[in-house]
Amino acid sequence: MRTQVGIVGAGPAGLMLSHLLHLCGIESIVLECRSRHYIENRVRAGVLEQGTVDLMIGTGVGERLQQQGLRHEGVWFSFGGRRHRIPLAELTGGRAITVYAQQEVVKDLIQARLGAGGQMVFEVDELSVQELDSIRPKIRYRHAGVAHEITCDFIAGCDGFHGVCRESAPEGVIAAYERVYPFAWLGILAEAAPTSEELIYTYHPRGFALFSMRSPQVTRLYLQCKPDEDLNEWPDDRVWEELCARMRTEDGWAPAVGPVLQKGVNGMRSFVIEPMQFGRLFLAGDAAHIVPPTGAKGLNLAISDVRVLSQAIEAFYKLGRGDLLEQYSAHCLRRIWKVQRFSWWMTSMLHLFPGADGFDHRRQLAELDYITTSRAGMTVLAENYVGLPME
Ligand SMILES: Cc1cc2nc3c(=O)[nH]c(=O)nc-3n(C[C@H](O)[C@H](O)[C@H](O)COP(=O)(O)OP(=O)(O)OC[C@H]3O[C@@H](n4cnc5c(N)ncnc54)[C@H](O)[C@@H]3O)c2cc1C
Repeated sequence: MRTQVGIVGAGPAGLMLSHLLHLCGIESIVLECRSRHYIENRVRAGVLEQGTVDLMIGTGVGERLQQQGLRHEGVWFSFGGRRHRIPLAELTGGRAITVYAQQEVVKDLIQARLGAGGQMVFEVDELSVQELDSIRPKIRYRHAGVAHEITCDFIAGCDGFHGVCRESAPEGVIAAYERVYPFAWLGILAEAAPTSEELIYTYHPRGFALFSMRSPQVTRLYLQCKPDEDLNEWPDDRVWEELCARMRTEDGWAPAVGPVLQKGVNGMRSFVIEPMQFGRLFLAGDAAHIVPPTGAKGLNLAISDVRVLSQAIEAFYKLGRGDLLEQYSAHCLRRIWKVQRFSWWMTSMLHLFPGADGFDHRRQLAELDYITTSRAGMTVLAENYVGLPME
């Protein structure tokens, strides 16, 4: 088989890349190790930056997003028993975030690709990428027991943090920069109508908590917990008790309690590789970087990477320009490091660190007080939260 761009991974990065390339007449094949059903039901992120929303609408995959997405023009920070609202849209010239679950983005993109006759292979096995520094790199894999090989012009490694592409560059070519945090998030999805229309980030002496939602009937909540937290020690009653203890405010606000649909523990890390390319392999999304989820940036960063990559590939085919491909990594990393900084800052400001003392507690409270009362402080948070420009 032969294609222009071989794409490994059908997450938001791989699917959006395939969609954007199709719109400029460039063919691709997407290879995914999981089933279509699995990836269309995998619960992960849910906060879309304004730039992600604009891109989806502008490229014809935003119809359901416009019908079902929940546009939020503000976000709340809760500490010392009180909630404080940051008016995102007012501070950023009308920009906002939209709550729309990642699996819905995935469904929309798969639908668009299949509708346009795009090639996607699910449930591939033993995938490997080869001859990356040649002009005809190859992807080998097995599907339904049969071995296949695709010769490509370019390979996009969009296979997430645990994928195979990043590890396929020769040793020493790629450097990694990493922070692992000494806590994790226990996340639940609950059948309970959200009691706040906007997200609430809570700083509490018992630890961080986040109130979020996925639809008018479903709440998504998170609790700071130990990295090795045993879920068996967290029956639903205990989860609700702890969530309410951290989130309840003086005015009587608390999350509504309801049946827990899903529960899980996610570790937290900051991770970036440099460069994000080797030969004709280009890495995008979680394959190249991970952010702690506090800033709600992982999915959005994946989308901004492939936007840059699709433009560079288009310039190669249409204008004969290779320079944008050469600059792909440097171009993306400028934005990635700003987003890393924001995600690290939000995480540091809102979580309880082991060994933290009274000084740290007062410093964190002062910072929260500042960013919820100073217009300059609120604006810094707002412009990062709704998303820095996709250049
Ligand atoms: C458990 C979890 C929960 C998260 N929760 C949040 C959240 O609440 N908020 C938030 O902002 N962000 C969250 N994130 C981050 C966000 O979901 C990611 O940043 C986003 O999915 C990145 O998209 P991607 O396309 O780069 O990678 P992915 O979505 O990981 O897609 C990579 C794809 O590649 C496939 N793949 C992997 N290896 C191979 C292989 N060898 N061959 C073929 N295919 C392969 C995978 O099955 C997957 O479909 C979460 C991430 C995880 C893992």
